[in-house]
Amino acid sequence: MKTLLHPQQLRGHRAAVVGAGRSGLAAARLLRELGATVRVHDLNPKALDAAAAAGLAICPGDHRPQDFADVQLVVLSPGVPRARLVSLLPSGATIVGELELASWFVGEPIVAVTGSNGKTTTTTVIGHVLAAAGKDVFVGGNIGTPLAEYVLGGGRAEVLVLEVSSFQLQTVDSFHPRVGVLLNISANHLDYHADMAEYRAAKMQLFRRMTSDDLAVLPLALKEEVEGEGMIRARRVYVAARGRFACPGLPGPHNQTNLEAAYHACRFFGVTEEEFAAAVKDVRSLPHRQELVLEHNGVRFVNDSKATTLEALAAALLAQDQPVRLLAGGVFKGGDPKTLASLLQERCRSIHLFGAGREVFATAWEGLGLPLFWHPTLEEAVAEATRLAQAGETVLLSPATASFDLFANYKERGQAFARAARVAVGLSQ
Ligand code: ADP
Repeated sequence: MKTLLHPQQLRGHRAAVVGAGRSGLAAARLLRELGATVRVHDLNPKALDAAAAAGLAICPGDHRPQDFADVQLVVLSPGVPRARLVSLLPSGATIVGELELASWFVGEPIVAVTGSNGKTTTTTVIGHVLAAAGKDVFVGGNIGTPLAEYVLGGGRAEVLVLEVSSFQLQTVDSFHPRVGVLLNISANHLDYHADMAEYRAAKMQLFRRMTSDDLAVLPLALKEEVEGEGMIRARRVYVAARGRFACPGLPGPHNQTNLEAAYHACRFFGVTEEEFAAAVKDVRSLPHRQELVLEHNGVRFVNDSKATTLEALAAALLAQDQPVRLLAGGVFKGGDPKTLASLLQERCRSIHLFGAGREVFATAWEGLGLPLFWHPTLEEAVAEATRLAQAGETVLLSPATASFDLFANYKERGQAFARAARVAVGLSQ
C-alpha cells in the first residue's frame, strides 16, 4: 500500500468511498475538500441520502467493476468485506480506511485505544484526565466524531485520544500513534473476521509504525506471547488490575484494568499518579455500561446493554456484589458460554434468556442448577425477572450479544430495558 502524505497529492485524484456511514461521509467530504473527485457507494440506497444531501456523487446498488474502473483511491468503511471489493478494483488502486486517510493530515500526538472490551470506557477516561491536566484534547475516532471530521473542522488539539476498532485497524498502514493501548483480545467479531488469528493480527497493526520513543500498553496476560514474538518496537508496559485507583463509578476488576491502562497513557503526557487518582475519583460509568437505571423496593436494575461479548458479561457478574437475576440473549458473536458456568452459579439466582441465541445459551447453561427461562421479547423477560427478584437482588441486563435481532442497536436495547423495568415495578404503563 502506498502512502500519500501531502494534501496536494490528492488534488485531481479519483476516489471512491465504500460505505456511507458517518466515517465514510466524513472521508468523502475530506477528499472533496482536498480536491479529489469522489463517489460514495453503498448497497443500501437509504444510506446514500445523507451523501446526496451533502452534494456528493453517489453510486447505489451492487458494486460492479465498471463503477470503479478509473478509481485510484478507495476508502473502505469498517465492516465492508475487503476481499470482494479488491476483486473489482483496477490494479494499482490504493485501499485505505477513514482512520488511515485522516491520519495523513494530523501532526498531533495520538493515543489510540483498542481491544475487545473496555475501549470506550478507557478512551473516555484518558480524555477526561488529560483535559483535567489542562491539555486541549480531542476524543473521538470509533466513538463520536471520526478523525476525518476533526481534520475537516481544522481542529488543532494538543492530543488526540482515539478509540479504534479492529475493523479500522485492518485498513491502516502509516497510522502511527505515540501511545497504543491494547486492552484485551477475546473471541469477538468472529462473525466477521475469518478467525481468531486474523482478528489478533488486526489488533496488532496498532503497533506496527511505533518506535522506541512511543509507548505500548498491553495486557499482562499477553506478555509472554508478545515478548516472544518481539514484533513491537515501542517501549512496553503490561497492565493488570491493581486496585490502586478509587473510582466507585467504575466498579469491578475489569475497570481497574482499564484504569491502569489509562494511567500509563496519561503518564506519557506527564500526568502523575496523584493527579490521575484525583481526576478519576468521581468518574461515572457511561450509559449502557453497568449503569444503575432504577432502584425500587430494594431491587436494583442495572443496564449493561453494551455487553456484547461473554467477557463483558463475565466482567459485569464479577462487578456485582448482590445476587443477580440475569437477562441475556440476542445475536451471539462467538466464544463458549460454558466457560461462565461457575461464575453464573456463584452470582446468579436465575437466568432469563430473550430473543435470539436461545439454542447457544440454553444448551450451555441448562445443567447449572439455576432456573432458566426464555422469552421472545426483552420486556417479557424483564417482567418475569422482576416478579422473582427480592430486596437486595439485582436485575442485570448484560446480554453478551449484539442487539440486531430485536433492536436497531445496543442503545435502544438499553432504553427498552429501562422502560420495561419501570413498567414491571408499576412506575409507568
Ligand atoms: P467497548 O468500547 O470496547 O465496547 P465499553 O467501554 O463500551 O467497551 O464497555 C463494553 C462492555 O464491556 C461493558 O459491558 C463493560 O462493562 C465491559 N467491559 C469494560 N471493560 C472491560 C474489560 N477490561 N474486560 C471485560 N469487559 C469490560
